Amino acid sequence: MRTFKSKIDELNRITLPLPIMDRLGVSPGNSISYTISNGKVSIIKTVPCCALCGAADNLNHFRNQMICSGCLKEISSVCRRLEIP
Ligand SMILES: [Zn+2]
Repeated sequence: MRTFKSKIDELNRITLPLPIMDRLGVSPGNSISYTISNGKVSIIKTVPCCALCGAADNLNHFRNQMICSGCLKEISSVCRRLEIP
C-alpha cells in the first residue's frame, strides 16, 4: 500500500496526486465521489448514469438530467398512449 499526501488550501481544496488521478482514471473536469465508511474516506470516479434507471450507456441530456435512450423511448411511448403532445 502506498500513501500520498496533499495539503488542504485556505478554500478547503486538495490537489489529487497524479498517481491517484491515473489510478482513478480521472482528469481535470471529471467528477469524483467521496464515501465515508469505518472512519476512512474512499474516492471513486463518478460515472454519469440515467437519472431514472441508473444505466450508464446511451445517455442523453434532458433538462439538466442524464436520461438513457431506453427510458426516453419508454417516456415517449407512454406520452403517445396517453395522447400527450
Ligand atoms: Zn434509463
